[in-house]
Amino acid sequence: MKVTILGTGAACPGAGEACSGFLVEGEKATVLVECGTGVLSRLQQYHELTAVSDIVISHIHADHFFDLIPYRYALCYGNESNDIPRPHLYLPPGGITALKQVTAPFSESDTFFEDAFDVSEYNPSEQLNLGGLEFQFIPVYHYVSAFGITITNGKKLSYSSDSGPCQGLVEVARDSELFICNTGACLESKKAVSWGHLTPEQSGQIAREAGVKHLLLTHIWSTCSRTSCLEKAAREFGGLIELAEPCHTYEV
Ligand SMILES: [Zn+2]
Ligand SMILES: [Zn+2]
Repeated sequence: MKVTILGTGAACPGAGEACSGFLVEGEKATVLVECGTGVLSRLQQYHELTAVSDIVISHIHADHFFDLIPYRYALCYGNESNDIPRPHLYLPPGGITALKQVTAPFSESDTFFEDAFDVSEYNPSEQLNLGGLEFQFIPVYHYVSAFGITITNGKKLSYSSDSGPCQGLVEVARDSELFICNTGACLESKKAVSWGHLTPEQSGQIAREAGVKHLLLTHIWSTCSRTSCLEKAAREFGGLIELAEPCHTYEV
C-alpha cells in the first residue's frame, strides 16, 4: 500500500500546514484517514475529491474531522455532474450524533453529511475490509473516546491516533512496518497536563516496545522544535525514525 502524509500539525496548524490526515492507497481502495483543518486543500494536490472511496475518522476532535464540512459542500454543490461518487464515511461510535450537534447551528439539511457521504459508525470489535485493506480499531487513552488504527494487506501500517501511553497503543504498533505516531505532548511547558498525548520520548518507547520497523512522528505543534522532537524520540528508539513530511509518500 502507498501512504501519503497530508497534514502533520497538532490542534492548530502552523502557517501553510494542515492538521491530521493521510491517504492510504491499496489496489482497490483509496482511503483518507482523518480530515483535519487544511487536509482538504492538500488532498486536492493529488486527487480529485471524488477519487476517495472511503474516509475513516479515529476520534471526534476538531483537528481530525473539521474539513469534512467543506468536503461535504464540495460534493453537494461543487460539481456539475449528477454522477458524483459517494465516499463511505466511517465514524467512531457516537460520531453521527456528535457531528449532527456540530453542524446543527448552520446546517440547511437534516441529513447534512448523509447528503454527500454514505455515513456509518464502525464497530471497534470488528475488522473493516476496504478493498482488501483490513482496518482494525483499538481503544487508546485520550480525552475523548479514540481508536488507534491498524491497516494490513500482508504488510502492516499502524496509526496511533491521539493517545497517552497505554498498552492499547503498543498493540496498535506491534510489529508494524510503518508506525505513524501522533506526538502531541511536545510542548515542554504543557507536559504536566498532556496525559492524553505522547511526548517524543514516549513515542520512541512505544515504538521500541512494539518492535516497529519505521517510526514517523507527526501531530507536532508548530511552535515545537521538530529537530529536538526527533532527537528525543531517537534516544529511545534505535530503528528508522523520521519526522512525517507533508506530501511525502511512503511504500508499506
Ligand atoms: Zn484528540
Ligand atoms: Zn489531535
